[in-house]
Amino acid sequence: MSLAKYREKRDFKSTSEPAGAVKARNAGKRELTFVVQKHRATQLHYDFRLEFGGVLLSWAVPKGPCLDPSVKRLAMQVEDHPIDYASFEGVIPEGQYGGGTVMVWDRGIWIAESEDVEVALKKGDLKFTLEGEKLHGSWVLVRTRGFGSKAGKSWLLIKHRDRFASTSEITVQEPRSVVSNRLLSEIASEGGGDVAKASTGDPPARTRRKSKLKSTTGKRGGPR
Ligand code: MN
Repeated sequence: MSLAKYREKRDFKSTSEPAGAVKARNAGKRELTFVVQKHRATQLHYDFRLEFGGVLLSWAVPKGPCLDPSVKRLAMQVEDHPIDYASFEGVIPEGQYGGGTVMVWDRGIWIAESEDVEVALKKGDLKFTLEGEKLHGSWVLVRTRGFGSKAGKSWLLIKHRDRFASTSEITVQEPRSVVSNRLLSEIASEGGGDVAKASTGDPPARTRRKSKLKSTTGKRGGPR
């Protein structure tokens, strides 16, 4: 686990994303954080991150998670991110790596179902339970055959059949931040970002619920 690639890609004088540190693994700590960040960069995607080994293991999921067990969502593994990144919500300046608007779409803890996480990651079959505000229950990340430079980086994110499985479109119905209750366009507007671009990541008003989910922390990451 290393943040070398993460740091290489970014200029911390220009972006307010955290430079981060690899945190010492706390052997007694059993609750590990997960976060899903909705990111309107060149393409809209959802960054799915699991805390492990002092970093956030990260996958970019173009269509976002789906509660329907018959749906497999492509998840491209990307560079490990610092633990602090889990609270980042705001605007990455255009021209910088990942330039665009970032929202903390879901957050909570994850519990490995696979006995040994390192072995499961190597094998390319990691089973886990999520206890988030939007995502719950049992899931799996399975490595799949990739092509060319993507070989070994392509995974599928799939919901297991349990009482949290559903055919409802959670990304459409629950488009707001779990930390600030904002839409992408509102985060962009308050952070001096590209509002028109960000709003293309928000679903049309008629399809989304009002604010069913309450903010847990009331804190906002991002530019201060
Ligand atoms: Mn991203």
